[in-house]
Amino acid sequence: MLNLILFGPPGAGKGTQAQRIIEKYGLIQLSTGDMLRSQIAQKTELGLKAQEIMAKGELVSDEIVVGMIKSIVHGDKSAKGYIFDGFPRTVKQAEALDNLLSEINEEISQLILLEVNDQELIARLLNRGKDSGRADDQDVSIIENRIKVFKEQTTPVMEHYKAKNKAVSVKGVGSLDEISELLYAVLDKL
Ligand code: AMP
Repeated sequence: MLNLILFGPPGAGKGTQAQRIIEKYGLIQLSTGDMLRSQIAQKTELGLKAQEIMAKGELVSDEIVVGMIKSIVHGDKSAKGYIFDGFPRTVKQAEALDNLLSEINEEISQLILLEVNDQELIARLLNRGKDSGRADDQDVSIIENRIKVFKEQTTPVMEHYKAKNKAVSVKGVGSLDEISELLYAVLDKL
């Protein structure tokens, strides 16, 4: 299996590039943000719990997101591989993911960081907020908090995989095609 973590701050282009990668490589995309928004739309108990935290740009508990990922990774035996988008966001989540994958004799093949500067991230998210309907994309102070949370709580995940020689970064600024080509070059070597 090819198990990829598409890593980067909010607005780095993880979701967009994940879509292209799943088409080309036949992987299954697992976006914890999308899963949480679907729980909110269905007004489930989990969704109600997550909603307030997400609106502030803070992180939902590790237990909640790990539980969501676990049910999919264990439930799908025919997958060619997974592309994790927006997960793991803490070292605890990364450790839980490593354990989940080892239970099915798998491991993370590669983490790829999409590098984008803060000004570009803020501009992209505000622009996306015009039609995404996401409240967390429409307020600069919330966007800034999400970037801060990424730097403080999520960047250690990169160190976790660097220590295993599994982390690389690519330039996340340029045309969508240029960025995809950089990602494909990494994936084709795996
Ligand atoms: P995203 O769509 O990945 O930008 O996620 C939107 C929001 O969902 C984040 O700001 C968090 O509040 C929450 N969220 C998504 N994924 C995770 C995760 N792996 N751990 C904790 N919170 C998450």
